Amino acid sequence: MANISIKRIKKVYPNAETATIKDANLEIKDKEFVVLVGPSGCGKSTLLRMVAGLEDITDGDLEIDGVRVNEFSPKDRDIAMVFQNYALYPHMTVFENMAFGLKLRKTPKAEIKEKVEEAARILDITHLLDRRPKDMSGGQRQRVAIGRSIVRDPKVFLFDEPLSNLDAALRVQMRAEIKKLHRDLQATILYVTHDQIEAMTMGDRIVVLKDGNVMQFDTPMNLFNNPANKFVAGFIGSPSMNFIEGKIDTEDETVFKSKDFKFSVPADLRPCLKSYADKRVYFGFRPEYIYDKAIEKTKRLSQSMEIEVQALEPIGSETFVYFHFTGNPDHQCCFRSDSGFVYQIGQKVTIGVDIDRLRFFDAETEQRIM
Ligand code: ADP
Repeated sequence: MANISIKRIKKVYPNAETATIKDANLEIKDKEFVVLVGPSGCGKSTLLRMVAGLEDITDGDLEIDGVRVNEFSPKDRDIAMVFQNYALYPHMTVFENMAFGLKLRKTPKAEIKEKVEEAARILDITHLLDRRPKDMSGGQRQRVAIGRSIVRDPKVFLFDEPLSNLDAALRVQMRAEIKKLHRDLQATILYVTHDQIEAMTMGDRIVVLKDGNVMQFDTPMNLFNNPANKFVAGFIGSPSMNFIEGKIDTEDETVFKSKDFKFSVPADLRPCLKSYADKRVYFGFRPEYIYDKAIEKTKRLSQSMEIEVQALEPIGSETFVYFHFTGNPDHQCCFRSDSGFVYQIGQKVTIGVDIDRLRFFDAETEQRIM
């Protein structure tokens, strides 16, 4: 059992002018895999390090299984942490590295051997137990670092960008391995990454942070389909959601007007935009949900919009088509096209957006309008 309650937690570093973590409230459930994601400097590591006990908590309560642990030292929190740089002892073998923590705790020798061998088996590094870190690849070293935390059988695992030093193919492999490990160990995991794809593929739920604020704490699919604000909408998904800034017409609030672009708001969305007459809003639509009207005949699409193709990025399975609405280079947008359809730069295309996937955001608060 290990649930983690983060209650009104704040962090102000000495000499810092603003708080690094403003007012974090998160309930992490037992056995949950929770990912902290956000741009560099948003406070992910700070939050993780406060849970680990490596950083003081300025204000608020941190509870593990209902016990307030703010003042507990790291070793009394029953937590294991895996870092990006592995932090292995270079002069020790893999076995010795993995056994080190247990030795310090005066665990009997036979038990150490059993635990290290079991962890090595789970991580498929049994054949490396006599090697030293310098004779291993990055991926192998990271497995040893994970092994060192497994042997301690902690309540909670904390991972701080553990895959950042690995090449792309190995990162994908290790992602799958860590997920499997989570299933096998049935442990609570808190995992930091700046990579939204890593967050989406690994987390049961994801905390999106920006400037020390929690922007949304939700499942991957909810972040993608129901972002609470413009930041989450733009951060999750690749290529990013397209945004066009404009106004809801004063006389006719069924019309979104932007420079050189008019859009009739679909009936389903009109009620929520009622109070937005003459206010600035963002109109948001994902590259996945834009269709070429000459091709797509079955979906419920918005009114036709004329675009001009500006650039093409074929990635094999599909092509990212960058465009602006005819005559307006301010409106840079992108849609994903099946690679079977060939477009030319400068070509005019008539598109429509899947009506169920349209989103509007308040331009002042950046909150989603629902
Ligand atoms: P992230 O992990 O999201 O990249 P960090 O938690 O490392 O972000 O840092 C968040 C902010 O706190 C940054 O602006 C960073 O400069 C600042 N910061 C981190 N550690 C310290 C420290 N020990 N003293 C002062 N400021 C710090």
